[in-house]
Amino acid sequence: MGDFFFEEEIMKLREMQRPIIISGPCSAETEDQVIETAKLLKATGKVNILRAGIWKPRTRPDSFEGVGEVGLEWLVNAGKETDLPVITEVANSSHVEKALKAGFDRLWIGARTSVNPFTVQEIADSLKGVDNIEVLIKNPINPDVNLWIGAIERFYRAGINEVHAIHRGFSSFKSDKYRNEPMWEIPLALKRVFPEVKLICDPSHICGRRDILLEVSQKAIDLIYDGLMIESHLNPDEAWSDAKQQILPSDLGELVSRLVLRNEQVDDPVFTKNLSELRQKIDEIDRDLMKLIASRMEITNEVGRFKKKNNMTILQPERWAQIKHLHQEMSKEFALSDKFVEKYLSAIHQESIRHQTKIMNG
Ligand code: PEP
Ligand code: MN
Repeated sequence: MGDFFFEEEIMKLREMQRPIIISGPCSAETEDQVIETAKLLKATGKVNILRAGIWKPRTRPDSFEGVGEVGLEWLVNAGKETDLPVITEVANSSHVEKALKAGFDRLWIGARTSVNPFTVQEIADSLKGVDNIEVLIKNPINPDVNLWIGAIERFYRAGINEVHAIHRGFSSFKSDKYRNEPMWEIPLALKRVFPEVKLICDPSHICGRRDILLEVSQKAIDLIYDGLMIESHLNPDEAWSDAKQQILPSDLGELVSRLVLRNEQVDDPVFTKNLSELRQKIDEIDRDLMKLIASRMEITNEVGRFKKKNNMTILQPERWAQIKHLHQEMSKEFALSDKFVEKYLSAIHQESIRHQTKIMNG
């Protein structure tokens, strides 16, 4: 298809300090819908790649499951008409074969596919020997970074070098604000393993609603993601899939214009000096914190020796409840989030138990 390549394009956008924007409907519904959406997206001047799902992996079997193969041609035509590169989702080797035949050179693997190593391997094998192909892999629906890493490795081993990652959030039983919990630490951990992999955020599937798309997109940009994939539709409320999260192409354009693009590095020497002084202070405080935690563990050890002598259990539920309450109070006093204080306390407590177990059980 085009002579457009993700890596090159991203580098160009990087220089211009702009993220790559992938947009289009959740699902291709009709040929007109795909072409009209593409034209409106192109008119915003903000979109780099056109997306649409043709085969839709849906949670429930009575949902719309995509128009199938015919949609490939619609997307290819829309791409040609607007001069936008296109991308679609493949979920098995037969999809790959059909997409390649239609001329696609960029595919994504969905979250319900990247959970399954057999399917990922099947898709990777079906791309062996194919030149100039880019594969974007969505995170698996469950929060398992190794599964995501494994999927990327399977494509690398099949000789596909252009492999990138889409962060679309993780299924969670207790989710309140989000359709899929972002768990930002997971994509950032992935990035540490594969620094060369471009990270695209998919706020549409994270949010599942329109009103917080901008806030999640901005967060991704602040975490130096390379791009965003956001679903758009001519008539979002009437979309055949994911109606609640899609936005008008014009709103997509506006959302992108409202993003604040900040610099990763600044050349100003005065600012750089101030920043490094502040960072030095942070490093000193971190050292003090560590020292304090170590002295807390020393006292924990002493408690352990006492418990051993008096034949007491390591865990005392009332004491734990008391400590928890104390921390809840302190989180308010010091304006720290409940979630953070809970995680911090649990880490300290686990380390204390490890220390006491060593003392009590030799
Ligand atoms: C989609 O992008 O429309 C899609 C099905 O996404 P996910 O695999 O993230 O659920
Ligand atoms: Mn969708």
